[in-house]
Amino acid sequence: MFFTRLLGASVADARWLPSQCAICHAWPAQSVCEACRTAFAAPAQRCVQCAQRVPQGVLRCGQCLAHPPAIDACIAAVDYAYPWEALITRFKFHANPGLAGALAALMRKADAAAQLLAAADAVLPVPLSAERLRQRGYNQALLLARALARPKVQPRWLRRTHDTLAQSSLNRTERLRNLRGAFAVSTQIPRDLGGQHLLLVDDVMTTGATVHAAASALRQAGATSVSALVLARTP
Ligand SMILES: [Zn+2]
Ligand SMILES: [Zn+2]
Repeated sequence: MFFTRLLGASVADARWLPSQCAICHAWPAQSVCEACRTAFAAPAQRCVQCAQRVPQGVLRCGQCLAHPPAIDACIAAVDYAYPWEALITRFKFHANPGLAGALAALMRKADAAAQLLAAADAVLPVPLSAERLRQRGYNQALLLARALARPKVQPRWLRRTHDTLAQSSLNRTERLRNLRGAFAVSTQIPRDLGGQHLLLVDDVMTTGATVHAAASALRQAGATSVSALVLARTP
């Protein structure tokens, strides 16, 4: 099974080599070359709590002002748009460690991401449900978290309690309802979460409902602060 997956991934990724830019195919280059990074990952003004784009000089979006989320800070590296959508899809369905490193590098370079990573006591990948994990074989958020801050990663502190409906098929209200009680903090964590500054890591943030539900569970378990670092944010 493992080898079939390995073989499947290498065949599907045969068009892309690690020494080639995954976007423009420039060669030799890094997994995402400097020119593509400049062209497609330029810094943007984003809401400090949900990473949604906001006009220059605005700190928080209207949604976060009206309904403050359970999260202290949220950073996104890029918009979930061309050319990142296709690259993230490729990353999601073929566990490609080279790509994980390149995408994590984009996250690390996002404004204030380095400070958030340094301040975190633990880095928690947003978990998949047991069923989704079985289907895919790995959690793409865990690959990113490991590439970002391997010694701080705690993949088992947070777990998905039940299989939720695919968020993409739901509207905002339905998404929030769908996720109520979807996350739980493991009873086997080695220490109390009191005093802990936690950082959630995920690949794509759509409405923020998933990250906010995860943050609520951690907050209820006593975490002092919960922030999030995501690769891409749906504009
Ligand atoms: Zn390129
Ligand atoms: Zn916001």
